[in-house]
Amino acid sequence: MPDIAVLRDGGLTKSKIHRIIVTIVFVCCAIIPHAISGGPPQDVQYPVTLIAPGKGPFSFPPGYQTPWDKIEIMVTEKMSPNLFVLHGSQGLDSAHPDASGGRAMALFGADGVLMVDTQNRQVAEKTLKAIRSFTDAPIRVLVNTHVHPDHTGANAFFAKQGALIYAQEQLRNEMLRPPRGAGAPAQTIDMTSIPVATYNFNPATSGEPAVTFNMNGETVDFIPMMPSHTAGDTIVRFRKANVIYIEDFYRNFGYPFADQNNGGSIKGMLDAVDLIQKLADSNTTLVPGHGTLVKKSDLLPYRAMLVDIMAKVKTLREQGKKLKDVLAANLTAPYDKTTLGDTQQSKDRFITEAYDEVKDFPPIVDGKRTMPVHP
Ligand SMILES: [Zn+2]
Repeated sequence: MPDIAVLRDGGLTKSKIHRIIVTIVFVCCAIIPHAISGGPPQDVQYPVTLIAPGKGPFSFPPGYQTPWDKIEIMVTEKMSPNLFVLHGSQGLDSAHPDASGGRAMALFGADGVLMVDTQNRQVAEKTLKAIRSFTDAPIRVLVNTHVHPDHTGANAFFAKQGALIYAQEQLRNEMLRPPRGAGAPAQTIDMTSIPVATYNFNPATSGEPAVTFNMNGETVDFIPMMPSHTAGDTIVRFRKANVIYIEDFYRNFGYPFADQNNGGSIKGMLDAVDLIQKLADSNTTLVPGHGTLVKKSDLLPYRAMLVDIMAKVKTLREQGKKLKDVLAANLTAPYDKTTLGDTQQSKDRFITEAYDEVKDFPPIVDGKRTMPVHP
């Protein structure tokens, strides 16, 4: 065996050679999987925040247009070695100045990519590029948490990449027949953007998954929600990582937003917070569509604020006060100091929602409510 003879010439015994080989094998085992996956060592504590959303304050001049070409989509949080969060640049998107768009998530591995939401249409290529920075696996499954364009805008783009789109049937209805403001022209619908696999919320089985995927070592539940942020909300639970994407019925940047035109309600957002108290344990990481990551106890002051504002608005409305008087009463004042991203527009929207909900609240028809128009 000439090789060993050569080594022996260098003074190595058989047992030394064995030790060297064992050491080389051990070092390779430790390094190669991380080199391949790009993942961190085993002892990392998840979640890992790479880029926290900005705190502001942010202001934009009148007529400001979002410069989509300047916005970047980045991996901002890692929830496990193969479950990453994508979010956009801060300070550029006037609708979401703390971090552009709505969070998207990607579970990846040999079974392909499962995505939660798709970010805005304008940054679709950048969202894909961010995913391609950590996996080459095919895009296979996409679930939409709610209809808003910062969550569904790139649906058609990712459907063309191969994603089968899942959502509540009400979300599909909202996309096919969007609510129209007075005099607004009908929109043309790109059918490739529309969810194909649908399910419904059933009050009798609230909190139970409608769909469960077993992929990439993770178990993922799509849990349909009661009409809350919209009529077609879904939360997404990753059992192994102990993470729930809770979308937009809760927010900690700006005041609460129940999209009543799309079937949402403040009462439903209270029910959604209560459901999370049952579904999550104290360690579960909750991923809102915007703002910072939270635990379930963080939802309780938010819930208390919703209850307080609804009660105060109801009292004023029962006294015959008009909307402009209720807005002028500045009912959110006690919360302004602790509400990041607090703006007059965000406050007024919240109070108007409460005003419209406490009396003559229109029912949901086809995923939508016909809300009063306030001049
Ligand atoms: Zn939303």
